[in-house]
Amino acid sequence: MRKEKVDVLVIGGGAAGLAAAIESANHGVKTILLERERKTGGVLNQCIHNGFGLHVFKQELTGPEFMELLWEELSKTSAIVKSDSTVLKIAPESKEVTVLSREGVVIYQVKSLIVSTGARERSLNNLGIPGARVAGVFTAGVVQKMVNIYNRLPGHNVLIVGSGDIGLIMARRLKIEGMNVVGVVEIMPEPGGLIRNVVQCLEDFDIPLWLSHTVTEIHGTGRLEGVTVAKVDGELKPILGTEKFLKVDTLVTSVGLIPQNGLIENFVEMDPINRGPVIDDLMRTSVEWIFAAGNNVAVHDLVDFVYEEGKIAGKYAALYALGEKLPGVKYNFKRGNNVGVMLPHRVTGEIPFKMYIRSKKILKSCEVKFNGKRFRIFNWKIRPSEMLDLHLNKFDAFSETTNVEVNELE
Ligand SMILES: Cc1cc2nc3c(=O)[nH]c(=O)nc-3n(C[C@H](O)[C@H](O)[C@H](O)COP(=O)(O)OP(=O)(O)OC[C@H]3O[C@@H](n4cnc5c(N)ncnc54)[C@H](O)[C@@H]3O)c2cc1C
Repeated sequence: MRKEKVDVLVIGGGAAGLAAAIESANHGVKTILLERERKTGGVLNQCIHNGFGLHVFKQELTGPEFMELLWEELSKTSAIVKSDSTVLKIAPESKEVTVLSREGVVIYQVKSLIVSTGARERSLNNLGIPGARVAGVFTAGVVQKMVNIYNRLPGHNVLIVGSGDIGLIMARRLKIEGMNVVGVVEIMPEPGGLIRNVVQCLEDFDIPLWLSHTVTEIHGTGRLEGVTVAKVDGELKPILGTEKFLKVDTLVTSVGLIPQNGLIENFVEMDPINRGPVIDDLMRTSVEWIFAAGNNVAVHDLVDFVYEEGKIAGKYAALYALGEKLPGVKYNFKRGNNVGVMLPHRVTGEIPFKMYIRSKKILKSCEVKFNGKRFRIFNWKIRPSEMLDLHLNKFDAFSETTNVEVNELE
């Protein structure tokens, strides 16, 4: 077993990890990025649709194009990338990270660590639909990889469960590739994804969207033969008598992502709502030498946000490794009315920062308040699926514990 010393170790080579490694290396410290797959890029590799990079690169790019620009930036730095390297364990007392790689087991002794392990998909088992666990049931990410990377179709007739952006994009993709897309079912009364995606991915392709519907049963032995769908009531319970059978051989579930934090959740303070670590404006966790960025902190809508977080984590992890004293936390945020996902949880009050909030409910329009003082009005319909991003550079409304609210405006 080999041991190696490193200033900053980055776990995960998606957009967040790549951005973090670039920034860390640009601060002149020895930086190693570990990625468990053969290729870095994470989820960007399989997202061949456009819609990436509008904020950061001021261009509308596909996932792989966005990744190329990150690789180009990375190639100009001294950061070392090690792929086929899976991090197995972090020892918080000794600051040692155990990795399984082509070299065998390697233990890195780190000065600071950046965790950017992304998110995994919720599966059919998370939904608890009765029926046998037959072949032909996939998550959207698996189908995306199968179609976009391996050039294989999963079946002939497909139903999609979940109308978030990923479900909508996959409905269009499978139709373009020649599958019969029977429809998209969504348990909520409103689509989960952007309206522009509902129009461009479903309406333009004549794909039906059944709102307030869910799958209640899976049929088939061996291979999927069909599903039962039913309308749901206000409490999201299936309404008896509304069931209908749909003959499909493929069911694609797109029912959300879960941040992956198995490596740190036992010793880092976690936020059960974000399902990620509690972080401050430096992307520092409750353990001062561990930083985090990307979808493992909270599921983000845009890769640009993930990239920006990676850059912040990279900068402060490098400064920490250089022995600089980083500022302490001054203001803490407390969730008030209607605040779901929220980050950061606390700030130093020394640097401008961005706050991301998801409203718990659909609101016609809303105001965001800190300690009862209005900060901003959003004059359009707000949905839980769309993150509000707030740019903050003045701290006068904040106190040691600052209440954050998202109130509906009449
Ligand atoms: C289908 C889909 C469509 C999207 N569409 C858009 C869009 O149109 N526009 C947009 O801006 N954004 C879009 N996004 C969002 C954006 O792509 C993501 O938020 C972003 O790419 C996530 O980056 P990440 O680095 O946080 O995570 P990931 O890309 O998931 O990277 C995490 C990396 O960590 C690695 N890893 C995990 N555990 C370990 C371990 N133990 N050891 C070593 N490595 C490990 C993984 O292999 C992975 O490579 C989309 C996302 C999806 C899933």
